[in-house]
Amino acid sequence: NRLLSVSDLVVQHRRAGRRPVRAVAGVSLDLGAGEVLGLVGESGCGKSSLARAVCGLTAPTGGEILFDGRPMRPLGVRRRAPALTGVQMVFQDPYGSLNPRRRVSAQIADGIRAGAERGERGATKLTPGALLVRVGLPEDLADRYPQELSGGQRQRVAIARAVAARPRLLVGDEPISALDASAQAQVARMMRALAVESGAGLLFISHDLSVVRLIADRIAVMYLGRIVETGPTAEVWENPRHPYTRALLAAIPHPDGAGRLPVELPGDASDAAAPPSGCRFHPRCPLAFEGCDREEPQLAADGVACRLYSS
Ligand code: SF4
Ligand code: MG
Repeated sequence: NRLLSVSDLVVQHRRAGRRPVRAVAGVSLDLGAGEVLGLVGESGCGKSSLARAVCGLTAPTGGEILFDGRPMRPLGVRRRAPALTGVQMVFQDPYGSLNPRRRVSAQIADGIRAGAERGERGATKLTPGALLVRVGLPEDLADRYPQELSGGQRQRVAIARAVAARPRLLVGDEPISALDASAQAQVARMMRALAVESGAGLLFISHDLSVVRLIADRIAVMYLGRIVETGPTAEVWENPRHPYTRALLAAIPHPDGAGRLPVELPGDASDAAAPPSGCRFHPRCPLAFEGCDREEPQLAADGVACRLYSS
């Protein structure tokens, strides 16, 4: 049994008086215990909707999410419920998820308690101070309130609180994008270490492939609600095949200054409410050819959804 197994997931958002948006349009992925899956894509591609569905915070419109072989049920409004299921999420904006009226120590203690309630061995040995040190913060920060901290410190506190609950699955939705560029790689590596050493699976979501590749065992690239390429990190990084993945990689400056081809993706990602016909990427694809505007490629067993590779 995989820890997490998502098949054909559809998440559709209703909007008053307007066409519903199919943010996730048939996604399948899986994640094992102690494994890190990096999910990459531009903003608006459906990454957050996928994350929220996986955590039980949004009810799927279709498809199936199995956590430990059992269907993940939407949790509704019970705020502590995700901790009790063994799933923890770290959001992009930690201010929204930390309680401004409670000291840091009390909020991390909530996480520890949730882990203990689930009977996680080791949870009771954790202390807020020790967890703060693990995420690179001084122990005495425990006495402070969230608004007394910098954005980067709050993000680390949110990670400490999530890890405190000893989750079996940790989901980070852009967990590093509020941090200074210099701290991003360090915090991403720390999340990986904390997840892997406790045997949890980590679904790490970011628009930044150059950070994701530092910590992910496998990468999945998402475009307009679909996964267009997936594979082991080294393969995707060194031999990207889908034109969208190639464009994402080309946008990353090479550290030695040699530079990859600075390919600009023409135009913005299309509107998820009215996705293009055929291949959703065709209006921006530099390699589009006859039929790409009519036939939608499926994700093949070799991990790529592009008509260039189907025979
Ligand atoms: Fe480009 Fe066609 Fe491949 Fe889509 S199917 S990515 S349009 S070549
Ligand atoms: Mg998002």
